Amino acid sequence: MNREVRVRFAPSPTGALHIGGVRTALYNYLFARKMGGKFLLRIEDTDQTRFVPGAEEYIKEALDWLGIAPDESPWNPGACGPYRQSERKPMYMQYALDLVEKGHAYYAFDTSEELDAMRERLTAARVVSPQYNSITRTQMKNSLTLPEDEVKARLASGEPYVIRIKIPRKEEVRLNDMIRGWVMVHSNTLDDKVLMKSDGMPTYHLANIVDDHLMGITHVIRGEEWLPSAPLHVLLYKYFGWEDTMPQFAHLPLLLKPDGNGKLSKRDADKHGFPVFPMDWTDPNSGDKAIGFREAGYLPDAFLNFLAFLGWNPGDHREIFNLDELIEAFSIERIGKSGTKFDINKAKWYNEQYLRNKSDEELASYLIADVEKEGLSVAADKAAQIAAIMKERATFPADLWREGRFMLVAPTHFDETVASKKWNQEAVTVLTTYKNKLEVSQEVLTPESAKALLEAAATENEIKFGKVMQAVRLAVTGVGAGPDLMAVFAIIGKDELIKRIAFALDTLQVQS
Ligand code: GLU
Repeated sequence: MNREVRVRFAPSPTGALHIGGVRTALYNYLFARKMGGKFLLRIEDTDQTRFVPGAEEYIKEALDWLGIAPDESPWNPGACGPYRQSERKPMYMQYALDLVEKGHAYYAFDTSEELDAMRERLTAARVVSPQYNSITRTQMKNSLTLPEDEVKARLASGEPYVIRIKIPRKEEVRLNDMIRGWVMVHSNTLDDKVLMKSDGMPTYHLANIVDDHLMGITHVIRGEEWLPSAPLHVLLYKYFGWEDTMPQFAHLPLLLKPDGNGKLSKRDADKHGFPVFPMDWTDPNSGDKAIGFREAGYLPDAFLNFLAFLGWNPGDHREIFNLDELIEAFSIERIGKSGTKFDINKAKWYNEQYLRNKSDEELASYLIADVEKEGLSVAADKAAQIAAIMKERATFPADLWREGRFMLVAPTHFDETVASKKWNQEAVTVLTTYKNKLEVSQEVLTPESAKALLEAAATENEIKFGKVMQAVRLAVTGVGAGPDLMAVFAIIGKDELIKRIAFALDTLQVQS
């Protein structure tokens, strides 16, 4: 049977979407596109207590920013809606009851005090992880221990209950993970998880399996943190009788802290000052702020490329892939098993590569916006020229203006260290001659003519051009390093160049 590939990203809207979640979405997207299938997004909001306003909108905006919008979602529903679990609430009970009927689930009436007491009893008896399971359930208040008429009476009287899965005592549960291979778990390590809560809402486990089934999901690609739940999910498929259409599982490796010790968290981001979220986020409850890759100046295509390589590689040395190339090259088989260290320098490197590949005109638009924010202005062609020489040195679009500001604004003071080392009589002599030459020159200044005149000024004074270069740079830009100086002169233009040299000659003192 050849089913259309259908994968889903199933985030819970409990806060900003972490970079690990964005990577999960990306791998699902790439796999769907590669296989000619569909990429769905389902909002898993059955836990109303963890709902955070704005989180769902954040997910949508992040995926839109990266150009990996789902084919079916709450905002773009297909035939399997609704795509928010809270709106699917009426669907789930029948499935839980079906399992009760088949003997794979049962009603449990235990109060929270009774559950606490059970845990305390087990802890006192030195049970390592006290659980409601195939052994302990025999001592609890549920439809397996209570007489049938009492169960009916309790249900009829509206007494609160949950429905739990009945995990078999001795059974090997196996699943063939596309990344990890065979995973085997003994059922005595599993507990009787709640499927239906007392408020009539399904838990994650029930809703997730029912929805994946009803939405025709063929592959479940998700984070490693869900691997421990997978055996339970396999059992649920079996008990529902859906084994033949059970999705294939692929559990993605963890994203690790930069030093490789543990899972990457917001705390690492705060500590090192790098983002771990796609976009800025302010928690509406705590007011806590987090910075995003987008606002930090990462380009969406660079960020995508970086993200794709956090756990996957194409098997050769190529590193730069646009979205279409990623789709072409992607395969689940090439996703690694072990966690991937998060390296912000790699993200910056990608941004630099993508920035350099942008046209000068496109980069000019960032520069113009930044210039205008300061109430200044720059012509489009000049902005493109500035972008052209600054982009080799920039990591973020904002660097173009931050580092290239001197192109439009003359220095008012000079780097003192450079001045003390390089500002000398020879520099003054060469610059004075150079200024005179510029004043009488009829030519439009180009990098070549700017250089020819400067060389002539040095030669005339029998001074080596190279010896005064840094002082010349200091005079015109205020600092000792920067992009190709002759290109800078051509952009600044003759009149401005003369003015700046005059100001430097007036201001800087030769130290004896
Ligand atoms: N709602 C789960 C999450 O927040 C989905 C896990 C899964 O993909 O099954 O990640």
